[in-house]
Amino acid sequence: MNIDKNETSIRSILEKVSTGSLKQYLNSLSDFHTRHSKSPLLNDAGNWIMNELRSFGYKDTFYHSFKSTIDNEEFELRNIVCKKKGVDEKLIMVCAHYDCIMDLKEDSVSRAPGANDNGSGVCAIIEIARVLANENLQHSIQFVFFSGEEQGLLGSKSYAKYIKENGMDLYRLVNLDMIGYPFFAPNTVIIERDNNTNVKHNQVGENDTESIKFGEMMKDMTSSVGLQFHLDSIYDSDYEPFEANGYVVIGAYDGSADSIKNPHYHSSSDLPENIDWDYLTSVTKLVLATILKIDSFNSH
Ligand SMILES: [Zn+2]
Repeated sequence: MNIDKNETSIRSILEKVSTGSLKQYLNSLSDFHTRHSKSPLLNDAGNWIMNELRSFGYKDTFYHSFKSTIDNEEFELRNIVCKKKGVDEKLIMVCAHYDCIMDLKEDSVSRAPGANDNGSGVCAIIEIARVLANENLQHSIQFVFFSGEEQGLLGSKSYAKYIKENGMDLYRLVNLDMIGYPFFAPNTVIIERDNNTNVKHNQVGENDTESIKFGEMMKDMTSSVGLQFHLDSIYDSDYEPFEANGYVVIGAYDGSADSIKNPHYHSSSDLPENIDWDYLTSVTKLVLATILKIDSFNSH
């Protein structure tokens, strides 16, 4: 059996993405005083994410725990993994970090709502999980939420290693890190491909061509969700450890990771009130459309 989704069925699934749901999730997530990886409050936020996913009927949802040292202290950190089984074992991963940070990196007690960085990416994935809960897909999906991103991609490094060691058939990965505050240009999403000329951000050559093709596929769907696009390269987020292990990765990003250009970046004012909801909704639809397209039999 093959599951093949045409344009009409993709369109009708995209229409289920709700701005109201995104607002609800992002308000709840930003209400945790901080999601700094050293704060016990991050566990509360993780439990909240876990409960949301389970409420949609996802039973195969678990913590992937690992130990890491932050500021000379050892912490047990937790990624969150939610599995949706497809007809085959070929795996599409959609991921985002759920921790956040302040300008003063070791400050784990100040108010740090992290609405755009990276509540936006987390809530988009929760909404995609909700919409896909009762859809039958060809490939399997993992919705993954990383901890310790801000301390050097700790969660994604640990999970990429786990995926590799267990020989899992990770086919495509989409990472979302800051997708609610369009900075590059209004209504414009930055699509990040694995073509960075700096070897630090592009450790393996063999996966570049497929990543560029995958980015093209995402690009081709931007106008259908009312977005403009700008093509760029992957840089400093959770796709990198997967890239380094040879997997095919892309990212979506709003261009606002800069405290000089964006006054809310890594600050107590990174609040839901500064989110561009139409933009966040459109990028969520774009990511969902890309998943459905790559899942469709005719695409490969
Ligand atoms: Zn981030």
